[in-house]
Amino acid sequence: MKTLLKNGTIVNASGSRRADVLICGEKIKVIGEHLESENANIVDCTGKLLFPGFIDAHTHFDLDVCNTTTADDFYTGGRAALKGGTTMVIDFACPNKGESLQYGLDLWHKKADGRTACDYSFHMTIDDWNESIRAEIPKMFEQGVTSFKMYLTYPAMMIGDGEMFQALQELRKYGGITGVHCENAGVIDALIAEHKAAGKLGPENHPRCRPDVLEAEAVGRLLKMACVADVPVVIVHLTCDASLKEVEAARARGQRVYVETCPQYLLLDERRYSLPDFEGAKYVCAPPLRTPYDQARLWKALRDGEIDTISTDHCSFTLKQKDAGRDDFTKIPGGVPGVETRGELIYTYGVAEGRITKEQMAKYLSENPAKLYGAYPRKGAILEGSDADIVIYNPEGEKTVRAKDLIANVDYNPYEGFRIAGGIEQVYLRGRLAVENGRVLEDKGGVFIPRGLSDLK
Ligand code: MN
Repeated sequence: MKTLLKNGTIVNASGSRRADVLICGEKIKVIGEHLESENANIVDCTGKLLFPGFIDAHTHFDLDVCNTTTADDFYTGGRAALKGGTTMVIDFACPNKGESLQYGLDLWHKKADGRTACDYSFHMTIDDWNESIRAEIPKMFEQGVTSFKMYLTYPAMMIGDGEMFQALQELRKYGGITGVHCENAGVIDALIAEHKAAGKLGPENHPRCRPDVLEAEAVGRLLKMACVADVPVVIVHLTCDASLKEVEAARARGQRVYVETCPQYLLLDERRYSLPDFEGAKYVCAPPLRTPYDQARLWKALRDGEIDTISTDHCSFTLKQKDAGRDDFTKIPGGVPGVETRGELIYTYGVAEGRITKEQMAKYLSENPAKLYGAYPRKGAILEGSDADIVIYNPEGEKTVRAKDLIANVDYNPYEGFRIAGGIEQVYLRGRLAVENGRVLEDKGGVFIPRGLSDLK
């Protein structure tokens, strides 16, 4: 099957050009001017932008947390992602303490295989550390899992500084890359106990118990551990200026540090937690939303290249699920939806409003995550030989985010009422037209993408 995308503007991280793209089967065969091809389905892309399929390197589909399960599984989450231009997600396989990494990986394959609309891959969560887990690490690489996740908060997930240091040293041997959730667990728990004892139980107390400096403390501690272990690390969902200062200090020491942020930290702020009638629960996630000052700082960091990727931390719960914490904010399941809206939001508030360039958008949503997580150049760029994962974006027109128009399995959206500039018209997944004008045409066409080693300079 051949498709010829004519006269669009190809947007890669390295630059943009007006050219045609000939897709043969699953791959991009030729990029050039005035291409002709017999028997190709010709698509006129005049006036449209062609982005490389977006990669969301931080999703939680079908995850058990807070005595419930995320509203989106790989079926609903994968469809929502693809509709939003995301042709590949990297979710977190998450064994419980006492379970093997292999058990966790097999379980995540069971959740995703054969029922996901977009391509997918898995990071492996290390929330337990012993000799048998150490011995499993090389087996993960053999199965295409080359990135890992560790936690400096949440007792169920933490392994402690000493063990984390040992795990980082072990992963270094294989060239593994590790993302870490950075918040100081002990002080947060003490603040939560203090607030509860004082009868402060509403969602507005959530950010008060998780201040920015406690995120920055953990970022700084991690980066010092990584310095001694001599290994690059990823700060996932970085939210604030205080944490960026720790990153700057580590980079000044000569460390390689990668930074991810998310749309919620760029577009929403902590005042949302004080909305009446428990509405603040919609925005409960960790780390929490920060101040408008932090938002501006994150945009500046994107403009200056201090941040490497924008992923979503999609972890969705319905309002009914959020209601479990109506009388106690610590029981509100933490997380917000994001996969379906990331591309159009970043285009609108990043590119169209002049905060970043369209090439930077391709870098943060496609090329950098592909390189950082070992999927480049198969994914992450519109290049000859790459998978034909292409988002056709029409910059003209305007629409508004409405939860009722979205297909993720959530009955609200944190960006309700946000204006969108233009919009995604078509999405190609490995050469097949998979989304057209908001309609997902291929429900279960995604495949597992085994990844190589991290290679982001
Ligand atoms: Mn997460």
